[in-house]
Order: sequence, then C-alpha cells, then structure tokens
Amino acid sequence: MRRLRNVKIVATLGPASDTYETIRALHEAGADVFRLNMSHGSHEEIREKHSIIRKIEQDLDSPIAILADLQGPKLRVGVFANEAEELVEGAAFRLDLDETPGDAGRVCLPHPEIFQALEPGSRLLVNDGKIRLTVQDCGPDFANTTVETGGTISNRKGVNVPDVVLPLAALSEKDRRDLEFVCDLGVDWLALSFVQRAKDVFEARALADGRAAILSKIEKPAAIEAFDDILDASDGIMVARGDLGVELPVSAVPPIQKRLVRKCRAAAKPVIVATQMLESMIESPMPTRAEVSDVATAIYEGTDAIMLSAESAAGSYPVESVSTMNKVAIEVEADPTYTLIIAASRSAAGTTVADGIVAAAREIAEKTEIKAICCFTQSGTTGLLTARERPGIPIIAMTSVLDTARRLCLSWGCNCVITPELERFKGAVVAAARAARSGGFAAETDQIVVTAGVPFNVPGSTNILRIAPCDERLIYNMDPG
Ligand code: PGA
Ligand code: MN
Repeated sequence: MRRLRNVKIVATLGPASDTYETIRALHEAGADVFRLNMSHGSHEEIREKHSIIRKIEQDLDSPIAILADLQGPKLRVGVFANEAEELVEGAAFRLDLDETPGDAGRVCLPHPEIFQALEPGSRLLVNDGKIRLTVQDCGPDFANTTVETGGTISNRKGVNVPDVVLPLAALSEKDRRDLEFVCDLGVDWLALSFVQRAKDVFEARALADGRAAILSKIEKPAAIEAFDDILDASDGIMVARGDLGVELPVSAVPPIQKRLVRKCRAAAKPVIVATQMLESMIESPMPTRAEVSDVATAIYEGTDAIMLSAESAAGSYPVESVSTMNKVAIEVEADPTYTLIIAASRSAAGTTVADGIVAAAREIAEKTEIKAICCFTQSGTTGLLTARERPGIPIIAMTSVLDTARRLCLSWGCNCVITPELERFKGAVVAAARAARSGGFAAETDQIVVTAGVPFNVPGSTNILRIAPCDERLIYNMDPG
C-alpha cells in the first residue's frame, strides 16, 4: 500500500485490535508491520490474528510483514483473582511459586531460578519500574518484600531485577515452543527479548533455520556492551526502551537510541524505536506534545521504524494512534532540516559493486527529475543497501520472493512489489515502469532508475543501473538486453 512517508510503522495487535475490520483499518491508516506479542494470548489467538493479516494482504494484494515477539527470559508475575490489585507503600507483599491466583498480599512469580538468586535487600521492579519492592527475607520458593513505591499490579506484569545476575537461558521452554509454532505458521521476523550476547542470536537463528529473519531487542545493559557483535549476528534491531529504561537510568536511553540507530543504518539493517511513543493515546484521542516530539525525534534520527505497543494492542484509540504517527512522519519528512540531517548522518558507502550502484542511484535521483528507484532484489540485500542511502525519492523494491518482500516492509522507504520470476532485463524494466505507474510514483512521461543483477536469480549480483522511461513503447525500443 502506497505511503506518503518513508519511516515504517509497527503496530502491536491485542484485544483492542483483533478483528479483520480493525486490523485492516490499522493497515490502511499506516501500519506496515504487525507485531504479535507472544507474551500475551494463546496459540489459537495468535493463529487467528495471523490468518486475518494474511487475508488482508491477499485482499489488498500488497505484502505485509508479521513480527512475532518472543517473551524471552522475561520475568512476569502470574495472574490475580481480581485481575489487578493496588499495592500501597509500606505494605508487605509476597512472591511465591504457588499458581493460585494472587490477591493484595501475594502473587505467583513462576521462576524458581529467581528465588535462588535473590538476597535480602534485592530490589524487584514491577510494571516498568513503577512499583518497587525490596526483599526482606527469601527462600527457594518465596520472597517476602516491602512495597517501597506502590501502584497497580495486574496480571502478568513484568518484573526486573537489576541488582542480580539471573542464571537464565536465552530461550525458555515457552520461547522454543512459541518459536516452532510461529515459524510453522509463517512469520517474517522473530524478535528476541532480553538478548545478552551474540550467542543468544545464533541459538535462535539455528532453530528458525531460515524460516524468519532475526531481530534482537536491546533491553539489557549487557546487550549494550556487546552491541556490535549482536548487530553483526542479527538481521534487525529493536531499541526496546521499556525494559532498557528500567534496567538503566531513563536518562541513559536517548543517547543509546541515537547511537544504535546510527550503527544499524551504517550496517544496512532495519532498526525499530519502540515503547511509550504515544503512551497517553492508550486513553486519550490526543497525544501529548512531548510524545509527538519523541516520534519526530526518532524519525529525524533516521530510524527505519517506529512502534506502537499498548496504544494499538489494548488502548481505546488504536487507529488514531497509527494515524498520528503517520501524520507526524509526513510532516517531519517534508522538513528540509530532515533532509539535511539524513544526508549528514550517511556513512561512507561500502566497497562492493552493489554499494557503488545504490550510491550512484541516489546521486542521480538527487540531481535529476527521476521519480523512483526500482531495485530488483532476491535476497533483499540490494533493498537494504538502497534503504541505507535514504534517497529523496521513493524506493520500489521488486522481488519474486514473497518472504523478501514481506521482510523489507520493515525497512525505511521500501515499497515492496512482487514480480513474476524474470529472465531478461527488458522484462524487468517493463515490470518496474508498470509498478512505478500503477503505484502512483511516476507518470508515463517520467523516468525511473532501475537497478538489477543480471543474470537474474543469482543473489548478490547487482551490476546494472539503467535510467528508463515509464512509457512502455519506449522501453520496447530500447536496445536488446
Ligand atoms: P516488550 O519489549 O514490550 O516486549 O517488553 C519492548 C520494550 O521493552 O521496550
Ligand atoms: Mn521488553
């Protein structure tokens, strides 16, 4: 679906967005990627949302990416008999392994490992650090705590333990089951929570076995330390500001966000800035000025994608949240300052032929009236390299590989179009001109840049840059090729 902006929007689905009508409205309002959060919902519910997305994709004849977000070794409390309880400062609150629904005095924390690692004085941060508990005494299956900062605690809220190194595996049993389930179902991206080292990524990649691209969520101090290796091992990154801002001081998050976004762009790998972007829109149809500024900042930094969590999954204004992001993006990208910042933060191109071709395509586009860059990409690499250039005209990523088209939906500026398998360059140019015209990117009298690798179907062989007319009669008169 044609967008009037380059940054992508990821919308998390949940109870506020689980029907065909709402999900389609989210997509039409601007959601390019849907996130299925494996921390919530049964496999049946995930299967249902997945099939709705695929149906919309088919009905609109336009690829949509699905990102399945594995819970990871995230600690969460169990459920409450009344769904939520108010914890007041100074009160006693007990965590244990008893799966009976909780009340105002206790709840299950179904992680035996954590009780082994806790000590009197350890802090437990619940619900994004809003509630603070201090351990008074503990044993192998319980911890009695005092509420230092109170608040509402509800079903399956997250728990962070910043003072303790937890002896947890990168993928829990549940993650392995979820991974197998979603890979079988067919998702495009698999997000790994609480990645601490590159090895965690290799482990998931081996299990996914090519069925999904791997995105690492950066939300632990250890992941910041090992970031270069993690980026190297991953296909994409999420700056997961929620847990990051609990495990580190919140003031450390903005500089980290800037650094990570730049590194990802330099590596030609998509990056998502996530969490609390329009938090107040969970309850209000109107965002705060600060939230709008936060969304704008991420776009000015050159992020590939911005994400909605509870705003689209559980809030009262899911579609409005997407439209707000869409409007902010259009406004920011039309700002001449945006163009200047994006150009100034472009790192030197690599030294491969494909790097040279994508840089040349952007430069030609900047200096002429050319309307779009159509890049033929099978593995997606040329699409990623073109996106890294952040050109000032639309990118049309053309591929015969459906998985590639869907994965590239996360990357800056990529308008993904499925083509039949091609054999000759002239056929490719005709397909590119048609895609540019039918997508509304160019008129018959316009010209486009076409990049491709000939022979076709050999990955990594981009070796042609052609300025082509959009008028098919003129293409047929081109010299053979
Ligand atoms: P989550 O990840 O929503 O799965 O916790 C995002 C974050 O921590 O920011
Ligand atoms: Mn998180």
